[in-house]
Amino acid sequence: MSTGRLIIDLDAVVANWRALDGMTNCKTAAVVKADGYGLGSENVAKALFKAGVRQFFVAVAEEAIAVRDALGPKPEICVFSGHMKGDTDLIRELGLTPMLNSVEQLTQHLEVLPDHPFGIQLDTGMNRLGLEMQEWAAVAELALAQRPRLVMSHLACADEPDHPMNPYQLDQFKKMTDGITVPRSLAATGGILLGPEYHFDLTRPGIGLYGGLPFEDATPVVELDLPVVQIRDVAEGEVVGYGNAWQATRPSRIATVSGGYADGITRILSDRATLYHGDIPCPLVGRVSMDLLTIDVTDVPDTPSKLTLIGPQQTVDDLAQAGKTIGYEILTQLGKRYHRKTFGK
Ligand SMILES: *Cc1c(COP(=O)(O)O)cnc(C)c1O
Repeated sequence: MSTGRLIIDLDAVVANWRALDGMTNCKTAAVVKADGYGLGSENVAKALFKAGVRQFFVAVAEEAIAVRDALGPKPEICVFSGHMKGDTDLIRELGLTPMLNSVEQLTQHLEVLPDHPFGIQLDTGMNRLGLEMQEWAAVAELALAQRPRLVMSHLACADEPDHPMNPYQLDQFKKMTDGITVPRSLAATGGILLGPEYHFDLTRPGIGLYGGLPFEDATPVVELDLPVVQIRDVAEGEVVGYGNAWQATRPSRIATVSGGYADGITRILSDRATLYHGDIPCPLVGRVSMDLLTIDVTDVPDTPSKLTLIGPQQTVDDLAQAGKTIGYEILTQLGKRYHRKTFGK
């Protein structure tokens, strides 16, 4: 086998959902957008449904096709981008709940799909999606009379517990929604960890389910091993890879492994990443190519047949840090070429 082997542990996803659910006294949904953060939305959604999850969120209506297919008609599937032009058929046929985020969307939805469920998304300061205070004031009465399933907003800085934006948004959300009888939701993974005043009636964790920060106590979900294609000895002074970007300062053994930027191993990791042979760190040397990486295995006593990029020695977030990004991006960029092995249920 010449492609990387990506192992996805669905039992760990379920354990993470249970752990996050256990931190609140309210309902806990699951966010499975972007193909379940790159891990396969059908498998993830099925495993979570079996564990009792009854409400799922996707970013856009198209993503709900796979999720509805996997789950059947019962569970609620909510769409963060709301009801966009061209979504009407999908929303009706798949029984989706759009989170309407503007006066235009609200008007359009009530016109073309009256009596069809919907939710409302409010903007409490992030300035990304949702009705603002004044817009909401203008349409709240009309919208609430149609009995929305949920009124929600999203925190911009929840991964920084001491950030003043958190209490500010909480305050805005309360000002906009106190006294309504519709269920409310403010917290994603970070918001759950901020404490009970952020929980309201429903939380919407995504990254925490998949083992990522800010959920520090998450069970790791993925492991990624890359097979060694070739090993060569390189003399002191010889160069490796495109642009001669690395030069050996000692007689070295270089392993060429299968995996590159086409698999989501970003080029920023050139000369920065570390792979592992068991506990032994093996530095990536030279540039990341499209399909290959060159790794210094001089300090490995035996001949490795694979090296680990994500695993016990290096989490998704460790790798993200080396690549100057966040765990979310590492996960959602995981390559389509990998041989995926999903286990658990
Ligand atoms: C992505 C997203 C979530 C999930 O966020 P995590 O940080 O991954 O837990 C929740 N709500 C909205 C609106 C989102 O866009």
